[in-house]
Amino acid sequence: MIHVGVNGYGTIGKRVADAVAAQPDMTVSGVAKTRPNYEAETAVRRGYDLYAAIDDRADAFADAGLDVAGGLEELIEASDIVVDCCPSDIGPKNRPVYEDRDTPAIFQGGEGADIADVSFNARSNFEDARDADYVRVVSCNTTALSRVIAPLEEEYGIEKVRVTLVRRSGDPSETGRGPVNDVLPDPVSIPSHHGPDVNTIFPDVDIDTLALKAPTTLMHTHSLNVTLESEPDESAILDLLADESRIFTIPETADIDGAGKLKDYALDSGRPRGDLWENCVWAESVGMEGPDLYLFQNVHQESDVIPENIDAIRAMVTDVDAAASIDRTNEALDVGL
Ligand code: NAD
Repeated sequence: MIHVGVNGYGTIGKRVADAVAAQPDMTVSGVAKTRPNYEAETAVRRGYDLYAAIDDRADAFADAGLDVAGGLEELIEASDIVVDCCPSDIGPKNRPVYEDRDTPAIFQGGEGADIADVSFNARSNFEDARDADYVRVVSCNTTALSRVIAPLEEEYGIEKVRVTLVRRSGDPSETGRGPVNDVLPDPVSIPSHHGPDVNTIFPDVDIDTLALKAPTTLMHTHSLNVTLESEPDESAILDLLADESRIFTIPETADIDGAGKLKDYALDSGRPRGDLWENCVWAESVGMEGPDLYLFQNVHQESDVIPENIDAIRAMVTDVDAAASIDRTNEALDVGL
């Protein structure tokens, strides 16, 4: 059994903890929080040992009636590996704390690539994380782009990728984020950081990305144009994408026109928190013009990286191979719509 600690129990951390708890070969050693808020209370109700991420705040948990099992150092001691799900830029402060205790750790995509030895996407470079001590699971957008690029590159070769990302302005719980009445180029200069981030997984892929921020919280939308090195027809592309376990090709008959219905579908399907771990590619959007592939996909920013974190754990601390790990993760979570 792999004992997994989760440091930072917010949007990503709580989902990682539940996904770890669902795996047959992993258990949650505990979760660390900075504040005794509603998430801390539900962590305890879910049966996770709670640790105070900042030692001198332990009293605040006691005042709120929440028992803590210790501080961050005790959580690390109780863990074979830590998944660091703190907000961006906290990772560089935490890495030496993990290093001092010889404990491997996974960081998230908000951190710079230099936080870790390897940037990771299970479909694309699982073996690069084999036995690594520090790994970064790339962001929600880079994860989704990697899942599409990997099969296209293997099957047809890629000459050039161009992506426009319409990003949600904040997660549903981020009540202070905006814009509320505008669509902002973000950044206004080209490229956005997403292309260079994809190159941490695919160093040789030529990719340009532009990004905008829109007043929605549900999902990101990507408009892709991939110039391939051959000219397959649309049905071959659809078959290729449909074969990918973490890509959902939305059939025309589903009558799903956007993120609202996708999330409704996830909730109707009994998905925890209405999560969509898969890229959601509209089958009707897949079009070929000569060697140019076009498609639209939606990405559930809160959850697509969750199965990737689970696979990163196996790559780092077991000898399970990529296919077996992906299958095990998918089965435990019921990935695949
Ligand atoms: P979040 O703000 O929802 O959660 C972070 C949690 O960490 C909060 O509970 C916060 O209180 C806690 N925290 C703050 N400082 C801490 C510290 N020093 N020690 C321990 N905990 C601390 O953030 P999130 O959205 O879960 O993002 C976490 C990471 O995942 C970031 O790198 C982010 O870029 C990345 N990520 C986020 C998304 C997304 O859409 N939310 C998607 C993919 C990757």
